[in-house]
Amino acid sequence: ALSIQHLELSFGDLDVLKGVSFNVTPGEVLCVIGPSGSGKSTLLRCIAFLETGFRGTIQVEGEALGQFEKNGKQVPVRGAALRKVQGKIGMVFQNFNLWPHMSALENVMAPLTIVKGMSKSEAKKLAMENLHKVGVAEKADTYPPRLSGGQQQRVGIARALAMQPRVMLFDEATSSLDPELVNEVLGVMRKLAEEGMTMIVVTHEMDFAKKVADRVIFMDGGVIAEQGPPKQVLETPREARTRAFLSLID
Ligand code: ATP
Ligand code: MG
Repeated sequence: ALSIQHLELSFGDLDVLKGVSFNVTPGEVLCVIGPSGSGKSTLLRCIAFLETGFRGTIQVEGEALGQFEKNGKQVPVRGAALRKVQGKIGMVFQNFNLWPHMSALENVMAPLTIVKGMSKSEAKKLAMENLHKVGVAEKADTYPPRLSGGQQQRVGIARALAMQPRVMLFDEATSSLDPELVNEVLGVMRKLAEEGMTMIVVTHEMDFAKKVADRVIFMDGGVIAEQGPPKQVLETPREARTRAFLSLID
């Protein structure tokens, strides 16, 4: 579903991604863990093309977001070609990023009418289906400030899902939530995984990673320090830095 080769990104003098390569197969659930500043969010932002200055290749279903030229310069795809690839990626953020002046329903409809050019009635139908799927259909007419964090995040998931992406990215989707609301969002994510959605999940929820992930990637200092099945990486890590990280969060 996704192929990432030699991904590098620097902000000025700071090398944030230093050659990250991995593939994600259709239906695979990948959890990404690692210390603060290791480049996890930056990695997801590159895949969603929210960062554009990267070097290396990102291919979504065989179509590249951008790639090395012979002289080593990054040449991003643009215009319709870019929107086509971008449309295959859905992203859910830590801080929900809903539009506060739009109802839950309007938040889910907006990208459908604006980006996909759907009619209002078509968009509404699809939006309601997805709000229903994540269990917040009854809040369709409520504005985000009046929703709980867990409800806001589920609207955020519905908004991404309604675009019918091939890959869903979650960047610490539960980290801003009160503990009692975490499970309702993890439950939705787990259901998606069970339905066969291809997912890359940056998370501190080790229990989720253990139960739901097919593979865990441990990032440190802008590289993949270790990866493997969740049981192996989380319970019997090979690398000292993975062990050090896990001992801090347990
Ligand atoms: P956390 O667990 O805290 O979310 P992370 O692994 O997601 O950390 P990133 O957000 O990817 O880390 O950041 C990696 C590094 O890149 C950090 O040192 C950060 O300060 C830096 N960085 C991220 N975005 C920018 C930017 N737009 N400009 C400059 N530096 C940035
Ligand atoms: Mg982050």
